[in-house]
Amino acid sequence: MTTDPVDSGTGVSPAQDSQICNTLQHIWRLEAAVQTPAHSALGNLLSYASTVPLAPGTLVRVPLGRREVLGVVWACAQRTDDEDARDLKAVAGALDALPPLNDGWRELVAFAARYYQRSLGEVALAALPPQLRDLTSQQLARRLKRRATTEGRPTATATAAATDTDTSTSTSTGPTILSAEQAAALTRFEAESGPFLLFGSTGSGKTEVYLRAVAALLARDDTAQALIMVPEINLTPQLEARVRDRFEARFGAGAVVSLHSGMTNPQRLASWLAAHAGQARIVLGTRMAVFASMPSLRLIVVDEEHDPSYKQQEGARYSARDLAVWRGQREGAKVILGSATPSLESWHHSRPAEGVDPGGRYVRLAMPGRIGDGALPTVRGVDMNLQPPKTVLSGALLDAIGQRIARGEQSMVFLNRRGYAPVLACADCGWKSECPHCSAYRVFHKIDRTLRCHHCGFTERVPRACPACGNPDIAPVGRGTERLEEHLAELFATVKRPDGSAVHIARIDADSTRKQGALAQQLAQVHSGEVDVLVGTQMIAKGHDFRRVTLVAAVNPDGALFSSDFRAPERLFSLLMQSAGRAGRDANYLAAQGSTAEMWIQTHHGGHPLFQALRRHDYPAFARQQLDERRAAGMPPFAFQALVRADARTQQAAQDFLHAANAAADALPQAAQVMRYPAVPLAIQRVANVERAQMLVESASRVALQRFLADWQPLLHALRREPVGKGVIRWLIDVDPHSI
Ligand code: ADP
Ligand code: ZN
Ligand code: ZN
Repeated sequence: MTTDPVDSGTGVSPAQDSQICNTLQHIWRLEAAVQTPAHSALGNLLSYASTVPLAPGTLVRVPLGRREVLGVVWACAQRTDDEDARDLKAVAGALDALPPLNDGWRELVAFAARYYQRSLGEVALAALPPQLRDLTSQQLARRLKRRATTEGRPTATATAAATDTDTSTSTSTGPTILSAEQAAALTRFEAESGPFLLFGSTGSGKTEVYLRAVAALLARDDTAQALIMVPEINLTPQLEARVRDRFEARFGAGAVVSLHSGMTNPQRLASWLAAHAGQARIVLGTRMAVFASMPSLRLIVVDEEHDPSYKQQEGARYSARDLAVWRGQREGAKVILGSATPSLESWHHSRPAEGVDPGGRYVRLAMPGRIGDGALPTVRGVDMNLQPPKTVLSGALLDAIGQRIARGEQSMVFLNRRGYAPVLACADCGWKSECPHCSAYRVFHKIDRTLRCHHCGFTERVPRACPACGNPDIAPVGRGTERLEEHLAELFATVKRPDGSAVHIARIDADSTRKQGALAQQLAQVHSGEVDVLVGTQMIAKGHDFRRVTLVAAVNPDGALFSSDFRAPERLFSLLMQSAGRAGRDANYLAAQGSTAEMWIQTHHGGHPLFQALRRHDYPAFARQQLDERRAAGMPPFAFQALVRADARTQQAAQDFLHAANAAADALPQAAQVMRYPAVPLAIQRVANVERAQMLVESASRVALQRFLADWQPLLHALRREPVGKGVIRWLIDVDPHSI
């Protein structure tokens, strides 16, 4: 790639710019991906003129309107004589200190844009670290130079880490010997090409399998890179420590980098540059990391592949898991998806051949046992129909928790609702704490005496008396984690721990962890054994390797059984299995305590097949039952779906737009292959004074649905400019939506 000194700076003013354009006879025409305003009429790529050829994947700064923005060169061709030079604006500068983004990366971005029905520029720019947008080519060059001087040399921290790890492995734990199941999984992983679904119980040692696979790869290939994706890094700081511990000693302090939204922009840029340069051998990140530029990517791990957080919920609504599989295939990287409760999609794709069915295209690797032959917890159902009315915690459950406290063991009580109470109500006049801006109740938070809307954030002090009738006796209805924490503290106020000290009840949820570092501190308290009973939302259900927890309880899981969303049972089952997986993880500890691991479920519907399967830890049975239902009803994974959503000031306007969109789709060639459902309001219809409606489209053919959406999109853009689109604030397409 050549560099023209005139063109590489970014300090060129628009006036100088056009001068250069006229005098220097630009002979190259570039197509660049830039971030255009959402729903603008601009196409996917914009054309610019350049005096030098620039390789596809080169980052450039280009004029857009009156601004200068970052772009990615997509194509570059010599201009022909008959092209009019004056209609093209000149590139303002190339960030050519940076090697171009490779074909694999560009194809991934192009695929994601196409598949999720967004503009190429939007997806490409969102996939780059935000700070790149603000750097001039000189600033970037300086940064790269600084990086280059520190590269290669093991730093002081790397050497220190090496010694630390050496001593810790030789003195305390010793090298890990793989279980027979782990060894078998790894052998098949090495022999076959995948994609793999590692179906392993909670505590079966899936992480160890990932790390071994990565270690083997890095050992045999000096440049290879691996991407490890996790749902939410903040929730599992242990994992990051474990990865660094394992690899930094051997490959240097820069060998492992993280990529997630909790990092500052400079940190993200540094990680990204290290990955792009090939210097970082392992990228550990959340869904955004699927777009990391990794020139030698050879392995992708998607841990807890079923987790809803892999689906982006704004902008391009991509599934990082699905893109990981696509990217792995395209770039020749092996892909491992891991879970104890796989998504029904992945489960179906990994089904074995049977009769005329050739089976799915994924390879299923099963690890049913727990490390150290630990048993999965015994599941105990409490029939809430037999309890006195208004029982929160059954007597039997309280006894069981009390016994754990007496033995110095820990319990976790799980309730998926934060705050003190979901509603505050007046018994006299029927007033309820509705949010004036949303079709939802505001939640009562006792700690700061507020009513808070969890949808729009609207917050007020709790009124002293009923705002409607003046009755001073307004009362909380139902309960959230705050109230449960308070309740447990009262119940165990007089109980003592084995050392004579008072019982410690703690709570972890989005409210308790708002402050920087609060979560890590609270988790540390649980790990250290300070906490006897931990109350929390799903934040405590995922991933944590608590060694002394022997009892987990779900106190009110019934809500999700009757949700209108067909994925609700799948989510509930995996959440409960995950929660159960927190109990009894240390078989030696259980044996030493003479204790057993238990998962308690309080339910009014103990006979429900979901709980039946849970009792036996039988994910396959649950999956079979769900897949049978889905097959019969023609739902995913046996059909493909997309949602079109419209937001407007009135529900009527939102639905009118969707009706018009529906009518416009009649003429599309794929219309006969795509089922269109009527527009309906969202479950929470109004948020922040915006009315929301959606329309589901579905097809047995993914290709037909894709073609249909691609043809439909321009019609939707056009409708927006017609009278029926005037009232619409925004609209969007969600491909493979997660919640319906
Ligand atoms: P999962 O991710 O499947 O829930 P982990 O990978 O977290 O399970 O493993 C559970 C626990 O077992 C961890 O503490 C881990 O260090 C330990 N472990 C994993 N593999 C082995 C092994 N082969 N020998 C001993 N301990 C192991
Ligand atoms: Zn009242
Ligand atoms: Zn609100």
